[in-house]
Amino acid sequence: MERFPMYIAGEWREAASGEWFETQNPYTGKTWALVARGGEKDADIAVEAAHKAFTTGDWPKLNASQRGALLRKVGDLIAERAEQLAEYEVRDNGKLIAEMAGQLRYIPQWYYYYGGLADKIEGEVIPIDKPGVFNYTLHEPLGVVLAITAWNSPLLLATWKIAPALAAGNTVIIKPSEFTSTSALEFVKLFEEAGFPPGVVNVATGFGGEIGQALVEHPLVRKVAFTGSEAGGVKVNQAAAPGMKKVSLELGGKSPNIVFDDANLDNAVKGAVAGIFAATGQTCIAGSRLLVQKSIHDQFVERLVAFAKTARMGNPMDMDTQVGPVTTPPQFEKVLSYIDVARNEGAQLALGGGPATRPECGDGWFVEPTIFTGVNNAMRIAQEEVFGPVLSVIPFEDEEEAIRIGNDVAYGLAAGVWTTSLNRAHIMAAKLQAGTVWVNTYRAVSYMSPFGGYKRSGMGRENGQAMIKDYLQTKSVWINTETEFPNPFAMR
Ligand code: NDP
Repeated sequence: MERFPMYIAGEWREAASGEWFETQNPYTGKTWALVARGGEKDADIAVEAAHKAFTTGDWPKLNASQRGALLRKVGDLIAERAEQLAEYEVRDNGKLIAEMAGQLRYIPQWYYYYGGLADKIEGEVIPIDKPGVFNYTLHEPLGVVLAITAWNSPLLLATWKIAPALAAGNTVIIKPSEFTSTSALEFVKLFEEAGFPPGVVNVATGFGGEIGQALVEHPLVRKVAFTGSEAGGVKVNQAAAPGMKKVSLELGGKSPNIVFDDANLDNAVKGAVAGIFAATGQTCIAGSRLLVQKSIHDQFVERLVAFAKTARMGNPMDMDTQVGPVTTPPQFEKVLSYIDVARNEGAQLALGGGPATRPECGDGWFVEPTIFTGVNNAMRIAQEEVFGPVLSVIPFEDEEEAIRIGNDVAYGLAAGVWTTSLNRAHIMAAKLQAGTVWVNTYRAVSYMSPFGGYKRSGMGRENGQAMIKDYLQTKSVWINTETEFPNPFAMR
């Protein structure tokens, strides 16, 4: 059995306790590797190492252009190893190789983009209102940044955090999900190969409630960038509060995907499928509430069911598989329990509705693509995040009702709108309470465009130029240009 130790200060380390935990392949249901189960002691070692690399040695001596060059170099290495890294991801999270390889080929762009930004972090000279002083700002790194990630897109989510963090001059500890730790441990080798000094990028593995919590609480961690569930985000935010750490949270969603009767319905059907069955519905931005205008409701559902029925399930390593397994056994149980919840609430099953027992699904944790109609937005199935291939179809009358239902959830991560009316597209984009609104498309993200949630979907944003500021702190410098010091008893 392959063993994956942690990577701290440029060295491979077993957990201080000597303990390991199993990682499983969601397609076979079998354990394929052991990962070091870090605890409090390992958290201390990792943070001390990252802090040391931040304050001494080669990293703080590099100028910003040199930091940028290192980031671009690691981008090149990731591009070279994209397929191999994607295979680690699939073995751990069961997502499709077609999707993960695409993600891995795209990830280098974050390192090129933020590598380019590294030497464009400029302070300002303030035309200060007081005579005899010169005032300017410096934007300085924070120190040790902790990147905690979910299991659905481990390296992409880690990259959203570590590329800007490193460009800004911080050092980083990645704490991957316990279900998908191996890809980060392969990935980190590329940072060493690119020439990042030891301790600048570290990977600490183990359980959220053990090493995760200890890392968040460590006084030398200055920022926690978290992607995960709402419950996890609340815990992390609470644990970070006494230490006055900066926190960014990318959490869950219950996003509305809204189809008007003037939409291109062929595209809207594909958009509905992209919203909920791509990635087996295990995306924070899943369009899990499909709002369909009443005038086209029945014909749209019929077309959607016919199309969704054709989805090919099976081995995620096959390039033509379209729906893979659910990533973890607890998640598999959770998805099935929500199917029961929907049934008990009176929603009508239009497709699927249980575990997939097709021969091509083997022993994996597969759930049939499931569609419920007749869903009322007050039902639990419309309000709570399932994180699986379960769609709730909710009818609406007009624009006003679509906006009301669309916004009537605790979350606000994303929304989709399908219409050919430009006017309506702009009205909807303005009125929907979501960090991302897609019109006539779905599930598009880029390193260039801010991503994050309204309401309970999180705090802060990732991606885009402005985000680098989240990894910096601003210092205001005042230089007296007069020879004499004025009245010391008055504020200057
Ligand atoms: P969790 O909240 O369970 O876990 C996320 C990460 O936090 C894991 O690494 C976990 O470790 C760690 N963690 C858990 N508890 C603590 C703690 N007390 N202190 C420190 N770390 C902790 O989320 P999931 O992994 O189940 O991911 C699914 C969720 O992620 C969904 O809600 C989804 O919507 C959301 N998500 C949000 C995205 C966004 O960008 N908005 C993108 C992708 C997913 P461990 O695994 O060991 O428990």
